[in-house]
Amino acid sequence: VSDSAAKVPSKILDLMDGFKASKALFVASKLKMFDHLKKRSPLNAVDIANEIGTSVCGTERLLDACAALGLLEKTPQGYSNTDSANTYLASDGEYSLHGYIIHSNDHLWPLFTHLESAVKEGSRQNHRAFGKKTEDLFNDYYQSQEVKQRFMAAMHSIAHLTARDVATAFDLSEFKTACDLGGCTGALAHELTQIYPHMKVTVFDLPEVIANSSCFQPSERYTAPVTFVSGDFFTDDLPEADLYILSRVLHDWPDEKIHVLLNKISTVCRPGSALLVAETVLDEQKTHPPRAVLQSLSMTEGKQRSGSEYKQLLEKYGFTNTQIKITGNLLDTVLCFKKSQSSWHA
Ligand code: SAM
Repeated sequence: VSDSAAKVPSKILDLMDGFKASKALFVASKLKMFDHLKKRSPLNAVDIANEIGTSVCGTERLLDACAALGLLEKTPQGYSNTDSANTYLASDGEYSLHGYIIHSNDHLWPLFTHLESAVKEGSRQNHRAFGKKTEDLFNDYYQSQEVKQRFMAAMHSIAHLTARDVATAFDLSEFKTACDLGGCTGALAHELTQIYPHMKVTVFDLPEVIANSSCFQPSERYTAPVTFVSGDFFTDDLPEADLYILSRVLHDWPDEKIHVLLNKISTVCRPGSALLVAETVLDEQKTHPPRAVLQSLSMTEGKQRSGSEYKQLLEKYGFTNTQIKITGNLLDTVLCFKKSQSSWHA
């Protein structure tokens, strides 16, 4: 390496090109290239182009880009998936990220295209990206069956990948009943029943989501049933439970809404009941992990929090003995217990 090459700012150059790499991954996923290569490989560019109905020259460039990014292997016989592409990029794998990648392409990419306006105006750019102002984030997702299915698949892929670490971060065996508020497809709920066989788990989510939850049947290894209940956690009665769960819910909402929700949970909790929060917990400087810090740029009305911020927030609603576990997976966990009724006031 020559002296001048040693001065190349490779981190900055990688960031400059990062959007091209993301888009190459998104398009290869959308065109189901990794699915075709999982079924049969090695394949050359002509075979793949014929199968997916794309141009040969474009397909070859995209395949080479994926090989350059380490997603595919290229040999004189053709292209094959890497092990990691088989596991995470093909759409049928148990731990597939395909759903989240499609959500990133179809939803987050258009939003981030308007990041400059988002920063100038301090607001989410739905109107610029999709031609309509957001009243409620989830109303938007659930207005069309296609967008709802895509959003649920995205949530499912991350929930499934993180469920075991979230469920085992603390020993939850003392809880006989749990209710996953905003539990979506039930991915975490099913994992809980697998790890704690005596635990009865309920998923509580909006009616549109519950109506669609049967599209996300768990694999046969999940034998215990999960109960699905539809309702609005801001306005309806919550199912009774010893353990309430909020996974990736708090970061979406402004303080006023969080006040309503935590107040409600705290009121139905008996002393000794608990609340488990699953979120990416920021470090105290709030610059790590970058994934969570970057997610804030989508400008929902909510925010990502540090461990001490979660502790403070939960204490305000009568929760105590807060413990935080950084799991090393995409979601961390915060567990806290309800104090006796007389000793707190929100
Ligand atoms: N907990 C799941 C996870 O970690 O993958 C899903 C997280 S997703 C970001 C938020 C969930 O909250 C969605 O399933 C959404 O439908 C649900 N939700 C939003 N508003 C709700 C409300 N008012 N009442 C009940 N559920 C709601």
